[in-house]
Amino acid sequence: MQEHDVLCRAYARLLIREGVNLQPGQRLVLTCPVERADFARLCAEEAYAAGCAEVLLRWEDDQISRLKYLYAADAVFDRVNPWDALLPDTLSAEGAAWLAVHAEDPAHLKGVDPARIRRASAASGAALAAFRKRETHNEFPWCVCSVPTAAWARTVFPDLDEDAAMERLWTEIFRACRVTGGDAVPAWRAHSETLHRRVEALNRYVFRTLHYRNALGTDLTVELPEGHYWAGGAEKCLTSGLDFSANIPTEEVFTLPKRDGVNGVVAASRPLSLNGNIVEGLRLTLQNGKITDICAAQGAEIVRAATETDEGASCFGEVALVPSRSPISESGVLFYNTLFDENAACHFAFGDAYPCIHGAEEMSAEELLARGANSSVIHVDFMVGTPDLSIVGTTAAGETIPVFTDGNFAF
Ligand code: ZN
Ligand code: ZN
Repeated sequence: MQEHDVLCRAYARLLIREGVNLQPGQRLVLTCPVERADFARLCAEEAYAAGCAEVLLRWEDDQISRLKYLYAADAVFDRVNPWDALLPDTLSAEGAAWLAVHAEDPAHLKGVDPARIRRASAASGAALAAFRKRETHNEFPWCVCSVPTAAWARTVFPDLDEDAAMERLWTEIFRACRVTGGDAVPAWRAHSETLHRRVEALNRYVFRTLHYRNALGTDLTVELPEGHYWAGGAEKCLTSGLDFSANIPTEEVFTLPKRDGVNGVVAASRPLSLNGNIVEGLRLTLQNGKITDICAAQGAEIVRAATETDEGASCFGEVALVPSRSPISESGVLFYNTLFDENAACHFAFGDAYPCIHGAEEMSAEELLARGANSSVIHVDFMVGTPDLSIVGTTAAGETIPVFTDGNFAF
C-alpha cells in the first residue's frame, strides 16, 4: 500500500509539473470524479507545492449525470447555465491551467434518450465556443488524465473482484504513464522526445494522401490538406511559450484530413465507448469526406445520432498514428476510455479537427474550413489499427512511401 501511495504521489506530481506545467502564481482548474477525492487532494497539494495561486475544484459524478438525463426538465438540455459558461471563459482568458481527471463508467448513460445527449452537447458546444477555441489553439495549458473508479475498473476487468480490478487498473495506468517510482518526469520527457522524432520524419515527407488497408476490410484513402503538419508529444502554450502535455498518457502523432478528401471503407478494430454506450463492430463508408453509411453489430444508432449533431459531425477531423508496439497496445487491455484506447491503435475521429495547418492561428473559421479543416461541436475517436495494418503515403511528386507495415512505423 505504501508503494501505491508513492506511485500516486509521483503521478500527481507528473500531471502538475509536465501535464499542465503549472507556474507560480497561476490558477488551476481541477475536475475530478467525486469518488476520487483522495486523488484530487493529492493534485491540489502538488499544485500548491508548485506555487499555485488557487485551486478551483469541480466535481463530476456519473450517477448524478445519469439522473439528470433521465429525469430533468426537457428544456434544460437546450441551454447552458450562464455561470457554467462564465467560469471556463474567465479562467481560460486569464491563462489558468486546466487539469481534467476524467474517469467515466462507460455505460452510465445506457438507455438514456440519445436526442437529449445530442441536444446537451450542441448547447454546450455553442456556449463554450470561446473556451474550446482557446483550448484548441493552446492558449492555456491543459491536461487530460485518468484514475480508476470502481465502475470503470469493473468494466475493464469483469473477472476480477472490485479491489483487484482497481489495483490492476492502477498498474496499467502507471505503466502507460511511465510512473515507476521516484521522479516520473524524466521518463515522460524522454518518451515525448520519441514522439517528436516521429513527427519530424512525417513532416519531412509532406504526404498528399495516405492509403489504409487491412484484413478487417479497411480500404480507405485519406487526403491531407495543403499546409498540414503532424503533431505529438509535448505542445507549446501559445500565450506563455511553455511546454505542456495535453494527454497523459499519449502515444499518438496526429494531423487532420482534408474534410472532403476521405473515400472508402473503414472498420473499427475495437469497441467504441460513446456517450455512455458501447458500439461494437463499427464500419463506416465515406464518399468525398461524408459518412454515407454506418453499420455496427451493436450501437449503430448511437453513432448515427452523434454524426447528426451538426454539419461537420459526419466528416473526419483527425488522423492519428500509433504503433502496435506500445505499452497500452501490448497490455491487450480494452479500457473503454478514449484516453487509453486511442493510444492503443491508429485511429480517426469524426467531428472537429485540431487545426494542424501552418498559420491556422491567423485564419478565420471560414478560411480554415476552406483549407479543409473540419469543424463540429463533437470529436469522436475510434480505433482502426490492427497488427496487419498497412499505410502507404503518396507525396506531391507521386512517390509512394510505406508509412506503416504490419501495424508499426515503417521508418
Ligand atoms: Zn487522437
Ligand atoms: Zn481525437
